[in-house]
Amino acid sequence: MADFFSTSIEYLKGVGPQRAALLNKELSVFTYADLLQHYPFRYEDRTKFYKINEIVDEMPYVQLRGIIKSKELVGTGFKKRLTAHFEDGTGSLELVWFQGINWATEKIKTNTEYVVFGKPARFGSKFSIAHPEFDVFTEATTRTQTLRPVYPLTEKLKSKHLDNKVISRLQQEILIGGKDSIRETLPVDLLQTHSLISKREALINIHFPKNHESLSKAQQRIKFEELFYVQLKLIRLKHVRKVSYKGQVFNDSSLLIEFYKNHLPFDLTDAQKRVIKEIYADMKTGKQMNRLLQGDVGSGKTIVGFICMLLAIGSDAQCALMAPTEILARQHFTGLQRYANKMNLSIEILTGSTKKSERKIIHENLLSGELKILVGTHALLEDVVQFKNLGLAVIDEQHRFGVAQRSKLWKKNEAVMPHVLVMTATPIPRTLAMTLYGDLDISVIDQLPAGRKPIKTVHRFDSHRLQVNQFLREQIALGRQVYVVYPLIEESEKLDLKHLMDGYESMARAFPDIALSIVHGQMKAADKEYEMQRFKKGETKIMVATTVIEVGVDVPNASVMVIENAERFGLSQLHQLRGRVGRGAEQSFCILMTNYKLSQDSKVRINTMVKTNNGFEIAETDLKLRGPGDLTGTQQSGVLDLLLADLSKDQILLQQARESAISILESDPNLEKTENACIKNQVVAAKRSGLSWSKIS
Ligand code: ADP
Ligand code: MG
Repeated sequence: MADFFSTSIEYLKGVGPQRAALLNKELSVFTYADLLQHYPFRYEDRTKFYKINEIVDEMPYVQLRGIIKSKELVGTGFKKRLTAHFEDGTGSLELVWFQGINWATEKIKTNTEYVVFGKPARFGSKFSIAHPEFDVFTEATTRTQTLRPVYPLTEKLKSKHLDNKVISRLQQEILIGGKDSIRETLPVDLLQTHSLISKREALINIHFPKNHESLSKAQQRIKFEELFYVQLKLIRLKHVRKVSYKGQVFNDSSLLIEFYKNHLPFDLTDAQKRVIKEIYADMKTGKQMNRLLQGDVGSGKTIVGFICMLLAIGSDAQCALMAPTEILARQHFTGLQRYANKMNLSIEILTGSTKKSERKIIHENLLSGELKILVGTHALLEDVVQFKNLGLAVIDEQHRFGVAQRSKLWKKNEAVMPHVLVMTATPIPRTLAMTLYGDLDISVIDQLPAGRKPIKTVHRFDSHRLQVNQFLREQIALGRQVYVVYPLIEESEKLDLKHLMDGYESMARAFPDIALSIVHGQMKAADKEYEMQRFKKGETKIMVATTVIEVGVDVPNASVMVIENAERFGLSQLHQLRGRVGRGAEQSFCILMTNYKLSQDSKVRINTMVKTNNGFEIAETDLKLRGPGDLTGTQQSGVLDLLLADLSKDQILLQQARESAISILESDPNLEKTENACIKNQVVAAKRSGLSWSKIS
């Protein structure tokens, strides 16, 4: 009975038009189904009574049972507060009120047994709880003690009395009316294999868990379903493409052989060779390739990209490489040009700042087929950019392009879609890759070129600057060069720029005999370029810069990187920055400078950097710290339509969900079997409503 759950929330008992409007606006809750899927984000544990002597630092909310011995008003003015002395036979603590003092004073009876609930905080050697919930203990108390759901709510809702208790009652109302209409959305077989409870039971228990076990089962079930339907969608997409999208057949490797014979600047790593083989295999099948190429900073993705281009060009097709920013596009252009020149292949760059006259020539040469490789930014997507025969599109996704933009690039060849290779500059944790790029095949370069010495990373406090400077002096005396990087974020741009200038001046004072460069975003492009070149040529020994050097410079002799205010950088950014050193034969160093005051997260970030050079490990930690939304900026993309599942925690569940989706689609690609009818219904319903597939309808 789909109708019941799609009823407007307005008609639920206890809601009405005004509250409905508020629920629409504040929570995007429009129907019964929407509210039912407004899951609690945590639960207050009222199943257990803690003893006071069990309380330790950093505890979440706890429930205690004991006697209030005395109460007392202390302080005056805004320091005025009510304190109550609470004991349970194992110890004692203070209950404190800064607000609602009169009300609490009146309500508290001394020498009476209470149930107290709140978050303990330590003051000196003693714990106290501010603004606890408290009720007189009765025999009935123990019977109503459960896991109480806490819903994500806004202040506005609470001020209109739509609080946890009320939401809970509304959920109960929906469940009473609809619990027999809840359709099962996963096949019985799947439920049994993975020991999952029914959808009905899961929805009841997510809102009204009887105990920890039933809650955890409800969560497992709902998470699995979310992950399953996302994977099903991605795998079907991949499947459809494989079956119905033709690709050009590229199997002429004469250019490749010439390049290998005469121009290969170094031996490829085994990982590079393997990845090239995978890509070549795709490009020969006659099906359109959609592949993700992952590799850590410095793993050598550029040459892999170029070698793949050779296969396409060998069969008379053209290639494009699209990067998200002008700096990145230039960097790719410079990298590819080196190889293209050796092979006498024409290559151009097209960005927003390309002159009109140059554009015209590029457009013409693209149409005639004379121009073989075009590197650029979004400018490539414009309609005027027409290829004679685009055979391979490489996309660098340091910042993610939308799927829509990706598909625009495919349409650059009306006759046969180009093969698509998506490259990522920063490694992505497996779970995230499976979800964000689950419709692509994945290749990984998991090896750095031989002879690289791992970068030594250390953490130093600002107070050790003299020692750090001494170290820099020694390295410069040995002939090395140094980067000193300052954070620059838009919100505090002016202040950051000042720090950079101050930093530059104090470096200049500390190193009066050494030539310094400075580069930052406010400088003219030509001045920046000039300073970069001076540093590259070795005329200056120290480069003081903002994160502009994160991309775009390649100076193998620069083997030391100092990162100032390292606590202000994200993990993957630190890793990208560090990737600027360690490119030559010398031992490289990365020094992370901070002051003594560090948040817990900053400590984890810094320690991770010190501990490992492995980009995948770093990406995993980053995911745990920041969550998938922050990491990708794709919370709203629809791909990550996850309400409960968490890609940083539910890795095993994700793996199981993906495998299940694959095996179901393998045996029943069109979902025609009776046992898969529930999946089919769900897919059809979701298509019709444009909703996430895991949502009930
Ligand atoms: P990234 O994967 O970060 O884009 P690049 O393609 O820029 O890496 O390569 C980093 C550096 O390593 C470049 O200077 C490149 O010439 C060099 N390089 C790439 N592959 C190899 C290899 N197999 N052996 C030695 N050096 C290599
Ligand atoms: Mg690169």
